[in-house]
Amino acid sequence: MTSQSPQRLSQLTWNNRFAQLGEAFSSRLSGTELPSPQWLAHSRLLAQEMGLERDWMHEKGVLEALSGNAILEGSEPLASVYSGHQFGVWAGQLGDGRALYLGEVDTALGPMEIQLKGAGPTPYSRRADGRAVLRSTVREFLCSEAMAGLGIATTRALCMVSSPLAVYREERETAAVITRVAPSFIRFGHFEHFAALQNTDALLTLTEFVLELSREDLQNHLNLPHLADLSLEERSLAFLELTAIKYAKLMSQWQGVGFCHGVMNTDNMSILGLTMDYGPFQFMDSFDPQHICNHSDHQGRYRYGQQPQIAYWNLFCLGQAFASLINDTDAIVKALSTYKTHLPMEMQRVYAGKLGLLQEQPGLEGARLEDSMLQGVLQVMSEQRVDYSIFWRKLSMAVLNAQKLGPNAFNPVKDLFLEPQMFTAWLDTYWDRLKSEDLGLSAQCMLAHNPKFVLRNHLCETAIQAAKVGDPSEIDRLMDLLSKPFEEHPGFEAYADHPPHWAQSIAVSCSS
Ligand code: AMP
Ligand code: MG
Repeated sequence: MTSQSPQRLSQLTWNNRFAQLGEAFSSRLSGTELPSPQWLAHSRLLAQEMGLERDWMHEKGVLEALSGNAILEGSEPLASVYSGHQFGVWAGQLGDGRALYLGEVDTALGPMEIQLKGAGPTPYSRRADGRAVLRSTVREFLCSEAMAGLGIATTRALCMVSSPLAVYREERETAAVITRVAPSFIRFGHFEHFAALQNTDALLTLTEFVLELSREDLQNHLNLPHLADLSLEERSLAFLELTAIKYAKLMSQWQGVGFCHGVMNTDNMSILGLTMDYGPFQFMDSFDPQHICNHSDHQGRYRYGQQPQIAYWNLFCLGQAFASLINDTDAIVKALSTYKTHLPMEMQRVYAGKLGLLQEQPGLEGARLEDSMLQGVLQVMSEQRVDYSIFWRKLSMAVLNAQKLGPNAFNPVKDLFLEPQMFTAWLDTYWDRLKSEDLGLSAQCMLAHNPKFVLRNHLCETAIQAAKVGDPSEIDRLMDLLSKPFEEHPGFEAYADHPPHWAQSIAVSCSS
């Protein structure tokens, strides 16, 4: 941990523990020249949380360093190697094809790895250019910070630089580089890589490394002060169980805010249960459990309703990778099966919060939400394709207003339905159920669980178009709204409204 006084980037202490793991894990390299870099945006909030001084970006050499054009003293840039399952199929070796790991610094948030994405080719670029286009960089930047604002575990984004460098995707675009920050960028795919190579030594080293990174979490999970008293096998099993629990929480949070990741390949799954690698993600507009946000996902493998199931599939890939360290396959399956018991509990917690149901229900074993109540509301929303975020926020406001207006307060919610009969039937049961609650407390809970602002595709798109012509103000505005998405922000109602008609034509794919 650093002292309390804000620091310049160059004052942070570098530790680079990942770099010290050895040659099998990464290749040392530096960035490739990025012509005429310019600051595009930065996260004031993250800089503050990290303990950086207010105008840290203006320090001499920082723009060049975070463009990949210079190396900060103490940094040991590298690209790491991993493999993974992509769309359900083993893809073999992948690796940081365009991410440059600068190292690990001591920050007020604790040790944090810093990574540039889009800083040029690496030994793992597989004939691609190692670059990222401005469009996808803005999306990743905004979404990282939006997720943090929603209280969902995520890698963070400190800043972005743009450059006139031409990058060719479906058309000519320009390059940008994002600085990402996380306690670790290790993926399930890192473990799969060494398991596939049957490199047990490397697997062991990597396991000890993530066990150390997760020491506090593991100790809390096991309620044990001395992890070292346990065998590696026991600690690894506890780690798998902990990871399963983290993913149960993460998936319930994604589902709760209508977030679709789009590419839940195992190389995009963080070992620490962070949302990472924002590509063709989307916060759903109208509710459809079958919604596919990624135009490259032809089979709909990663559709919204399937995400919790896919997380379980991915956990099994991780479990398989651990099989050479843990001889007892049944114990691995048992550890991972924790996901199956935790997911319904976490879902129940998220949706009870969204519905403002705080009182435990008799006969429900301490639970606050009847399954039929949840399935009922999701079913009516899905049948009428009601806007997901607007529905929940309006329902929260209705419960707030119901203290004065009674059931009439729900009329604005009914108005969201073309044919409100089914919704009205559900509402009768819900209203009845609310009689056992304190409406004021329920409303307070709902307003803290149902965001007014989510990063919809069209909001991203508007910010991208403005940034392309040199105007970053829309990015800054979105950052303000999305860092506090549960607040009202009077005057910005348009950002919480239904998407415009043209939003339907936005197609996001793996191209980035
Ligand atoms: P993604 O679909 O973005 O998670 O990327 C999958 C793999 O492709 C990772 O190994 C990336 O590093 C690599 N990759 C994606 N785009 C590029 C690019 N433009 N240049 C080099 N590698 C890339
Ligand atoms: Mg990726």
